[in-house]
Amino acid sequence: MDLVLFGIQGSGKGTQAKKLAAEFGYDIFEAGGELRKIAASGSELGQTVKSYIDAGNLVPHEIIMKVVKEAIGARPKSQKILFDGIPRDGNQQKDFDAIMKETGRDFKVIHLKLDPEEGVRRIFGRAKTEGRKDDSDEAIIRKRMKTFTEKTVPVLEEYRKRGLVTEIDGMKNVDEVYAEMKKMTMSW
Ligand code: AMP
Repeated sequence: MDLVLFGIQGSGKGTQAKKLAAEFGYDIFEAGGELRKIAASGSELGQTVKSYIDAGNLVPHEIIMKVVKEAIGARPKSQKILFDGIPRDGNQQKDFDAIMKETGRDFKVIHLKLDPEEGVRRIFGRAKTEGRKDDSDEAIIRKRMKTFTEKTVPVLEEYRKRGLVTEIDGMKNVDEVYAEMKKMTMSW
């Protein structure tokens, strides 16, 4: 069973994904991380991707879907995948669901819920250590959160209708959140 993790910026998805992957053998597909690698390559595509990331906008549909499709195609069905940061809007959801269906992959969804103001505080803290340009500008952080509310929440609602979503309180500390994540994962 694959896992799709949702949560606003700063909700702790990345930290929890790493812990789950280490204990339960998931491969992590982190959409933002994969796109940052392409941006860092310096290629023409990389420069395009970088301009979207730095501005806090979603990278064009075709680019991210090609990356995710290749990542799924490169893994045997027996390799569980933890998706972080995809799908982020209705179009991505349509294509993501189709790819998952074609490749015979089932998934569940966890939403790590967090107060957006706490998210902004946490991201400012992280910006100091990771040096991400899109994390050091409050207007850009808020723009990404607005995109989450406007475009990603409807995706979550659709999965909720299908009975796939579990909500976990991301305001708790890392170990408490992980204990709940683990309990969910083990029940599937
Ligand atoms: P994140 O690391 O999840 O905060 O993502 C950083 C940036 O990568 C986002 O602001 C977008 O520019 C880009 N990005 C990440 N995931 C996606 C996606 N699924 N679709 C389009 N752009 C994305």
